[in-house]
Amino acid sequence: MVHATIRWSPRDSMRHALIRTVLSTIALTGADRWLAPRCRGRGVILTFHHVAPEPEARMPENAGLSITPDFLDRVLRLLADLGYAVVPLAEVPARLSEPGPPFAVLTFDDGYRDNARHALPVLEAHGAPFTMFVCTGFADRTAPLWWLDLEEAIERQPALRIAFPDGVLEGPAGTAAERLALWRKLYWRLRRHDESVLEQTMRVLVDTAGLDPLGRVDRLCMGWQDLRYLARHPLASIGAHTVSHPRLARIPAERARVEIEESRRRIREELDVDPLAFAYPVGDPGSAGAREFTMARDAGYSLAVTTRPGVLKPGLPLHALPRLSVNGHYQHPRYLQALVSGVPFALKG
Ligand SMILES: [Zn+2]
Repeated sequence: MVHATIRWSPRDSMRHALIRTVLSTIALTGADRWLAPRCRGRGVILTFHHVAPEPEARMPENAGLSITPDFLDRVLRLLADLGYAVVPLAEVPARLSEPGPPFAVLTFDDGYRDNARHALPVLEAHGAPFTMFVCTGFADRTAPLWWLDLEEAIERQPALRIAFPDGVLEGPAGTAAERLALWRKLYWRLRRHDESVLEQTMRVLVDTAGLDPLGRVDRLCMGWQDLRYLARHPLASIGAHTVSHPRLARIPAERARVEIEESRRRIREELDVDPLAFAYPVGDPGSAGAREFTMARDAGYSLAVTTRPGVLKPGLPLHALPRLSVNGHYQHPRYLQALVSGVPFALKG
């Protein structure tokens, strides 16, 4: 189900249509059912961001980070129908080394207020354990949600002109189509550069557009008091997700080490729990690699998760575990069933 406010470019539509077609074909031919025993591995770790009736974000990359509470409920019913046990993240190492029924782990990144408001009641109804990966700079109101600031900066101005080290990017932002085109160019240009360029560019954009980034963080992200309640919840465990949410592979080693270690220390200090798991921000190969996997292990985390898609197989390195993103552009059980079967990754391999 695609939310009506999402504006698509032809390229988006084609890419999403292709992925949907592949997943639907796998589901409709029954390939996911008859191949799953060979392809699904031992289980999956699912990634969620926002859970809300409507996505707040409008641009496709941001809106895809939001699913409805109803779909979360359908995900949990589907996992039960498929025979998956929903288990705490801490059980992954033991379950990977033993035979048993397939298992699923639920993880929520960043620490959004809507998780407590809209996801928690669904998780409680199913008795489903979950891990919340807390970015401590969001809880401290010191780190911005730059991808949402970028969306608003484009919406507030008739045109933008930005000087990058490799040239100027400019374009009109008067109509919905112009804003989407500009968003697309700007978002991916920022993602191509190191974190220092991204941060500097966002500082200029935020100033020019007169935004209130930390007000947004306060509105959208849980503070320490909410997190203290969650940390005591019998279904919840808390993991770390850096201080300022940088792509760790795009910052100097010393800063990356501080981000990985300091987030654990802040969580211990505020919540009186020791986060044993870590999630790499953004988590794709360009954001976390061998250097970061070693750092997470050396910092004492017992496991760490990426967003590299895949199912869990015995022998995987515990500090580079794959996850499957439950994406707002694919809110149908058929797509998720095809994904958790592992068949798409076996085909790709
Ligand atoms: Zn994150």
